[in-house]
Amino acid sequence: MATALVATFAAAPVNAATSPDGGEADCPSSLSVDAISRGVNAIECNLVGAEIRVDGLGLYVPEPGTGVSMEAIGELEAIHSEVSTSPDGVLSVEGDGPDVLRLAVNSAFVDSSLEDSHVSAQTDTREPDYSRCLENSATVNANWFIGYVEYELNTTENLPPGLSPAAWEALALESAETWSNGHNSCGLNYTQFDLNLFRLLNTTSNSNINADTSCGTNDGRSIVDFGPLDGTWLGWTCTWTNWVPGRPSYTIVDADVRIDSTRSNWTTSPNSSGCSGDYDIQALMTHEFGHFIGFGHVSEWGGADLTMSPELTPCDGSARLLGLGDLAVLSETY
Ligand SMILES: [Zn+2]
Repeated sequence: MATALVATFAAAPVNAATSPDGGEADCPSSLSVDAISRGVNAIECNLVGAEIRVDGLGLYVPEPGTGVSMEAIGELEAIHSEVSTSPDGVLSVEGDGPDVLRLAVNSAFVDSSLEDSHVSAQTDTREPDYSRCLENSATVNANWFIGYVEYELNTTENLPPGLSPAAWEALALESAETWSNGHNSCGLNYTQFDLNLFRLLNTTSNSNINADTSCGTNDGRSIVDFGPLDGTWLGWTCTWTNWVPGRPSYTIVDADVRIDSTRSNWTTSPNSSGCSGDYDIQALMTHEFGHFIGFGHVSEWGGADLTMSPELTPCDGSARLLGLGDLAVLSETY
């Protein structure tokens, strides 16, 4: 199997817009979600490294056998887009933003996973207020296949006023530990979770997430920082993945998190009387670390108030602790 795939890849032309049989390849003049849905070979069309904008956000066409995804959460919306290139060059895009939903609903090409997770989700009629401790919905995009992940925390730049480097580091550690130890608000004793998923290092470098709303390319360093986003988003996670034969999902090889430093409505005391319209940094970091280890948003139509719900509420720190669905996906994946 692996040998055949390598042979296919090696035989494919890398520069000319011709197909392996010598005919003209179907290379689009612009790289839209719709164009990709009609079938584009990134090798034949020489598109590796080209930028594609999905729902206004940038992802670079990854090398064959790799993928890149972004998860962003704002005050009123959240978005997920993922672009991958198969080992033999075929581009695919998934996600839950308007571009990809339109593709799923309208196009003759309907990816079965999109159909399952999104089209059906829109017709979900459950009440939005049921308990986070009864709801076990969860989404996995990919996962790490190593014992623990070293992430580098930038404690030197762009911190919001009032957040000391020590407080930022303590908050990051606690957010990571919530996932490693299954800390939850449901009274569930998940003693089997002693995962040590994360190791913290300090850095003065920046995450590979750009203010022009794009994920950079895989640099092999997983960095968490405060830095400028475009003002639309609270936090953002990019993950880079490799396709490995024999594994059920893409393997994460790099993940970066950025919290928007251009906004001032942050708090570390969501329950204090002084909180008004401010977002809890620790709740957000716990949510972003969920993305960091490969989990996606649960359906917002289901409305579960889980850590991986696509909504954060001002002055609400409940996402600091996991709900039932968050625990379910954790135990299933790690
Ligand atoms: Zn998110």
